[in-house]
This record gives sequence, structure tokens and C-alpha cells, in this order.
Amino acid sequence: MTAVFESLSAWRDERRAQIRAGLTLGFVPTMGALHEGHLSLVRRSRAENDRTLVSIFVNPTQFDDPTDLTQYPRTLENDLAMLRDEGTEFVLVPDETQLYRDGFRYRVTEVELSKVMEGARRPGHFDGVLTVVLKLLQIASAERAYFGEKDWQQLSLVGGMAEAFFLPTAIVGCATVREPDGLALSSRNRRLPPSDRQKAPQFYRALSISPTSEVASRELREAGFAVDYVEDRDGRRLGAVRLGDVRLIDNVPIGERP
Ligand code: AMP
Repeated sequence: MTAVFESLSAWRDERRAQIRAGLTLGFVPTMGALHEGHLSLVRRSRAENDRTLVSIFVNPTQFDDPTDLTQYPRTLENDLAMLRDEGTEFVLVPDETQLYRDGFRYRVTEVELSKVMEGARRPGHFDGVLTVVLKLLQIASAERAYFGEKDWQQLSLVGGMAEAFFLPTAIVGCATVREPDGLALSSRNRRLPPSDRQKAPQFYRALSISPTSEVASRELREAGFAVDYVEDRDGRRLGAVRLGDVRLIDNVPIGERP
């Protein structure tokens, strides 16, 4: 049985009862349009906790581009069916008026890592991410929260925020799930036309096998990608590219062979 909560206060009552009963909770925040990448987080949470909560909320404050927000896929009925099949106990589907009663007057800002790579190309993006994640972590009251390595910069920033503010929830990073051809699963992949879908796995390959980030960047440009950045940082190679109006991000440990 999967219980769906739209009301934050109803969920918080439920969670209080669980805590009284000594039940541990794993939390998986998502923006919906679920795929196997999200489900891998749900499975890990189910293996490590008594109960699992998944949230589905397309967070407007993290979209710097209004078109990206309107085009973001919304597949709620399908998402709920997938979560039921996984045996997810709880799903939280809050709305903006409940989550942002303050009108986004209060926000979390990190001043270094959030300003480079994704942050440099998407001004304000990580303020929106960190703010909504802090709200959701407070509401969930989970022992553990699961985030994908696919969004490596986000995972680092969320982990850093949890430490900086002494949050009681452990932040757990989970390996990137890929298509057999190497393309990282993403809700945005479904917007790729067939010819771009065919080209897309070259992104992962270039990140993995190029000797330097500059070479990866050049090869991707030659292959017809618009390259936002490819950067090596802390033993990983991270990149963002565009095919048409679809933006893809990915990262690999430096030296990983596809
Ligand atoms: P999103 O719905 O895109 O905000 O993603 C929700 C969570 O799923 C984030 O922690 C993502 O990093 C994670 N995620 C998205 N795609 C993948 C993937 N291909 N493999 C592993 N985790 C992923």
C-alpha cells in the first residue's frame, strides 16, 4: 500500500507516529518523470530503512529558464504507478503555496561551489535547490536522504549544507544509472529527437576516454554538441552540453573506462 500525501501537516502527523513507533525513514526527493535512476535510489532506501518517502515536486525556484520549467515533463499518474510497483510506502506531492509560504523570502546560499559550473550557467539555480532541499529534509524528518551522483555538484552542495547546518539526516550518494549505450538516465532524455538520442552517448564516452577536459570539449564540439563546460575537479570530470534545446549533464571519475 502506497499512501499519497498532498498536505504537509498530514504527512508530519504520520511521521510523528512513525517516530513514536521507532520506525526509521529513508527519503528520496525528486521532480517526478521517474525512471530507473530514481528507482535505484528508492530501492537503496528501502533496503536501508523501515519506511521510504518519495517526494515529487517540480521546484520553480531552481529553474533559471521559464521555458525549461514549462517544458519539464509531468507524469504524475505514471510516477505513482512506478512507486507502487516498488513498494514505496509514502509519496509526498506538495504544492508551491504550502512549500513557499514565505514567497521565497528566505533562501540558502552557498558562495563558492554553487557559483561555478552549473551555478555559473544557471544563476540562482543552487539557491533554489538548496532552499527546497532544506525545506523537504525538515519536513521529511528522515534518518537518511538519497541523492544521485549524476548531479554531482548538487550532491556535494547538499552534503555540505547538511554538515554546515548540523542537519540530523545523513546524505547518501548513489551511483549513476545509465542506458546500455552509456547515456545517463535523465527525465530530459525523452525530449531528444531520435537523431540526437543516437548522438547523446558520445557525451559519456568523451568524458570517460579523453585525456584532458580540453580534448573532451573539442571532440564534443566537433561531434555537433554545444558545450557549456567540461571541467576536472576533485578527481572527477564534469560536463554540460546541449543538443538542440535539450541540456544534458554528466560526470565520471577521471580514468573511468566506459
Ligand atoms: P530529479 O528528479 O532530476 O531532481 O532527480 C531526483 C534524484 O534522482 C536526484 O538526486 C538525482 O541525482 C537522481 N537521479 C537522476 N538521474 C539519475 C541517474 N541516472 N542515476 C542515479 N540517480 C539519478
